[in-house]
Amino acid sequence: MATLRDILDERVREADPHLVEKLHGNRVRCFSCGHCCPIPDGQPGVCKVRFNRGGTLYVPWGYVGGVQCDPIEKKPFFHAYPGALAYSFGMLGCDLHCSYCQNWVTSQALRDPNAVSPPLDATPELLVQDALAQGARVLVSTYNEPLITSEWAVTVFRAAREAGLLTAFVSNGNGTPQVLEYLRPWIDLYKVDLKSFDDHHYRQLGGRIQPILDTIRRLHQMGIWLEIVTLLIPGFNDSNDELRRLTEFLSSVSPDIPWHVTAFHKDYKMTSPEDTRAEDLLRAAAIGREAGLRYVYAGNLPGRVGNLEDTHCHQCGETLIRRYGYMIEEYRLTPEGNCPACRTALPGRWSRQFDGQIASHPFLPRQRAQLVRILTRQ
Ligand code: SF4
Repeated sequence: MATLRDILDERVREADPHLVEKLHGNRVRCFSCGHCCPIPDGQPGVCKVRFNRGGTLYVPWGYVGGVQCDPIEKKPFFHAYPGALAYSFGMLGCDLHCSYCQNWVTSQALRDPNAVSPPLDATPELLVQDALAQGARVLVSTYNEPLITSEWAVTVFRAAREAGLLTAFVSNGNGTPQVLEYLRPWIDLYKVDLKSFDDHHYRQLGGRIQPILDTIRRLHQMGIWLEIVTLLIPGFNDSNDELRRLTEFLSSVSPDIPWHVTAFHKDYKMTSPEDTRAEDLLRAAAIGREAGLRYVYAGNLPGRVGNLEDTHCHQCGETLIRRYGYMIEEYRLTPEGNCPACRTALPGRWSRQFDGQIASHPFLPRQRAQLVRILTRQ
């Protein structure tokens, strides 16, 4: 029976020329993520999904590891089209190997034999049709690390734009100048998971911090709407000192970048730290505010974090959007995206009017059967 590796090796195409450099001796350098792997002939990169065959870089194509519709607040984006439905798709593989990954079944499919995630054949048109049929407004590349499958994402996003949909990445932010320029014309929203502010911690996860900080600065300069998430893991990244440095960095890029500090629960191989408590989120949020961040949110513990699920006007303190988990309970922005009390503009991407809460729970697309399952569990 064909292995997952065999099946994925057939679902490839050549890398976009902007994301590859030919080196001597049939080696190629890949620029799709911050590792910038120099890949010898016959070998894959660190992500294991892009590989060099005969001096040509091949990249994933024509399948998804999973699809699902959710409220956009789940991604999370809090300053972009509140209440809209986001249609998420992902491929397989990742350039990092975080022991607490909550998407490990797709992200670690090529590293961990326990991560069994059969791919489904897909085309950009089929994904867009499916998204439209579900009433989605945004198409999101997520679940695996989308940077390592950027060619597929851009092709899907081109079809999405033609159909009037918005596009987004949910990413670890381990980018390069080349891949961000490649994505720039096709992407509206970008969420970066800033996991730590310590290079040693990032090396434990298989990366380095500098490409991620550079990517955050570059995304902001490019004018792509950016929100940051930090999963607060007791004993790993939750010291006051680390949180202060992390939030001071974000504030130096822009105090208007929303920062979501979210609660960890035991997952994958990281089962020893205790789950994050509400008081830990409140402490982290206070540090973020002291650092100058204007929009700080506490996530994953609905109803237990005071008003840290809500959006307030930074100028006059008026409550602009009230939330419970992914649910919008009240929306008070003007059609121009301003505070109704003092007219201060709220940074973000807003509709002229609130279209209502399209869904309050994740749900499977009704037309999922269109995506043909090509590999059964072994
Ligand atoms: S995407 Fe990153 S890890 Fe994968 S081959 Fe390219 S540079 Fe290496």
